[in-house]
Amino acid sequence: MSTHPHPHDHSHEVTHDHTPCADASEAPPGYYEVMEIAVRELLIEKQLIGPGEIRRQIEVLDSRSPALGAKVVARAWVDPDFRARLLTNGRKACEDFGISFYDDTELIVLENTETCHNLIVCTLCSCYPRPVLGLPPDWYKAKPYRARAVKEPRAVLAEFGTVIPADVEIRVSDSTAQVRFLVLPRRPAGTDGWSEEALAALVTRDAMIGVVTLDSQPLTESDGEA
Ligand code: FE
Repeated sequence: MSTHPHPHDHSHEVTHDHTPCADASEAPPGYYEVMEIAVRELLIEKQLIGPGEIRRQIEVLDSRSPALGAKVVARAWVDPDFRARLLTNGRKACEDFGISFYDDTELIVLENTETCHNLIVCTLCSCYPRPVLGLPPDWYKAKPYRARAVKEPRAVLAEFGTVIPADVEIRVSDSTAQVRFLVLPRRPAGTDGWSEEALAALVTRDAMIGVVTLDSQPLTESDGEA
């Protein structure tokens, strides 16, 4: 039984309409929002999952952000053994590093080199290395990026302000429900001897998707300090 007056109009036993979470300012829900509410309420009514489990799962999802991926990248830059393990089995190396995976996805880490630049996409929908990066940006889920990243990656990268030299191969990896990718960007020049923390602060979400590189800007270590 729902105790929440959700903004949909099929009749549940809603006893009152002024609970604290009612939000009259919101626009009417879209198709997928209504579908999500209906499925969620059905699962709870049938006692297949409880509201507590949903809340805990949301907490886990919300605890993930690009800062986590940035720590992985910085560790790979300073620790050759970790880097090797990361490239061999991304998920295992991340788990050993203390990052839990709450799903059954594989993680393949793609290293950018002098001769190869990696770009990730999900042409079908929005598959993304969520355990290490959190939620994908809206443009990653949008059709133009999904369609064009595979057809004309150089043009897409140019729109992000990223120009990859013609003699550098661009490799586009298409994510699936099972297999997720993370780009290991090249370590920026001039960062020898930097602390792992300062290095991590340089690593951006977009660099780990592969739409930008990190080696364009001249830096001092204080740039890497939060
Ligand atoms: Fe997908």
